[in-house]
Amino acid sequence: MTEPRTYPLPAVELAAFMEDYLYGCAPVAGCGVCTALAAELARAREAKEYGEAYDAAAEIRNHPHPAKKQR
Ligand SMILES: [Zn+2]
Repeated sequence: MTEPRTYPLPAVELAAFMEDYLYGCAPVAGCGVCTALAAELARAREAKEYGEAYDAAAEIRNHPHPAKKQR
């Protein structure tokens, strides 16, 4: 795998489940806001701006999308 990491190495030992808890999110494909937030999340994590990263992930999680099954 030569894919570059989105962050060099964890500065703080965070278990994977904590990483997922803090930053786990599902940006919706085709949603400009989610795409921008996902980019911000990656940038913030790379810059070790964990507060910013958390906020971006939270915004992605909270970004409303019309749920097709609700219509
Ligand atoms: Zn979205």
